[in-house]
Amino acid sequence: MKGNTSKLILVLLIISCVEGAIEVDKGTVINKITIISTNDSKVDSYLGYVVIDKDKIVYANKSRPRLTGNFKELDGVGKFVIPGLIDSHVHLANTAGFNGRLKNKYPELVDVYFKQLPRSYLYHGFTTLIDVNNYDPILINQIKNSVLHPDIYTCGNQVQVMDDFMMEMEAYSPEVRYRFRFLHDKYNKEIVFPDSINLDEHTTEKIISDIKAKGGVGAKLAYEDKASGLIVSWAKPSKGIITDLVWEAQKQNMPVLLHAPSLEGHQVGLEAGIEVFAHGLWNWTTNFKEEFNNLELTPEHKKVLLQIAQRQIGYQLTFRAITGEEDLITQNFGSDKNLEHIYPEAYLDILKSEEGDWGRNKIIGRGSFLKATNPTFYNSMRGNHASDELMWPTVYNLYKSRLNTVAKFLSEHNGNFILGSDTPAMNMFTNPPGYNGFLEMTHMFEAGIPLETIFKAATYNNAKAFHLEHLYGSVEKDKVANLLILGSNPLNNINAYNDIEIVIIGGKVVHREKLSATIID
Ligand SMILES: [Zn+2]
Repeated sequence: MKGNTSKLILVLLIISCVEGAIEVDKGTVINKITIISTNDSKVDSYLGYVVIDKDKIVYANKSRPRLTGNFKELDGVGKFVIPGLIDSHVHLANTAGFNGRLKNKYPELVDVYFKQLPRSYLYHGFTTLIDVNNYDPILINQIKNSVLHPDIYTCGNQVQVMDDFMMEMEAYSPEVRYRFRFLHDKYNKEIVFPDSINLDEHTTEKIISDIKAKGGVGAKLAYEDKASGLIVSWAKPSKGIITDLVWEAQKQNMPVLLHAPSLEGHQVGLEAGIEVFAHGLWNWTTNFKEEFNNLELTPEHKKVLLQIAQRQIGYQLTFRAITGEEDLITQNFGSDKNLEHIYPEAYLDILKSEEGDWGRNKIIGRGSFLKATNPTFYNSMRGNHASDELMWPTVYNLYKSRLNTVAKFLSEHNGNFILGSDTPAMNMFTNPPGYNGFLEMTHMFEAGIPLETIFKAATYNNAKAFHLEHLYGSVEKDKVANLLILGSNPLNNINAYNDIEIVIIGGKVVHREKLSATIID
């Protein structure tokens, strides 16, 4: 009896499979491909079929379904299909390699740069981007109106408390500061506002609602302290106001990201309950004289990192914020052939010329600034080096090794990495759109993070951190058809992420070479 029932169920199952043909209108079927996908549990890898209709995935499974309607076929034999990659820390309005002077001098090149920008991200498989600040709605619309572009999300303007780090760095006048859509830090009693300022317009509720109204998916704010090596003249957001912001953002279904690369910043963020750290812990100490060159995590570092891992707080290492500057100093980067696909030729020519070398001089110049403002910090960096120029490579190596150590520790404790490249940090040309994300993944791999973890960080975990997992992050029915077809297996080789053959964006099948800056018209 039992046997007959299961036979009957089997027959019914087969009949329902045959009858349930998928009807597609503008379809693509990818045949016999290795599908790599992930969700909350594990990374799956299996031979199967993917069916896309218009901009959605309508089927992903092991057997080929019966299809009716209009569809094209792609042969997937020997290839791998993965979800399109997500970079959740970009600054689209920044021009990689061009400062204000170059932008004024070559406006036509700036236009070409922005025309290529969305294609450069796609060239490296980034089909979803989250712009965390420098909110520029005109530019974002321009990108969204281009023929091929990644899906773009923003976090509105960076949340700033009065006299915060950025206002101080830019040395804005009080009048200018009051015009900001600042967040009133009611726990900081030291700042007094003139009566003309209506502080009811500057509550957490108003700020978060404002970001939400602009379509934002997160709120970012910055916490810098003396571990940066700068003398603190700015107001740090209080733990109380960050806690309130997190609470309000949660109410409106949004994560709060904190730029806080120091131990103190990590502690405050952790206690305030933030969801994402926008940079890795690279400012390890305020005791520069004794501890600057230490290479081991202290018990305090470990305690904080352990809690970050246990609470599964999203963690963007942003190696490129450090190594991008290192690349400027060491000067080999310009000869990297990958850049030809990212920067239009005329733009790249300027970057390689003498006037394009402003970034390097800017870094070298930082030495004398620090020497004047914070000699203890400066001396611990300078060590026995004969000049500032010789000092910087060692300094960047130290910061990079700190990040490597943090990455390894979090990885061993099952931390929740999410890929964020911080492109282009400080407008440096060594943070090339798209390619920078690949370099970030390479650094993660070199730090000892397993390939499966990197895969999750760049796909599902990133989507989930921004509450977008119903749309992105896996190769599953009903998700947006943003997919990559790779020539090699990303679970075996990090370079597979630079072995992209086809980018599928919103269901459109695009051969990678068509996205290269070498063929821009
Ligand atoms: Zn950034």
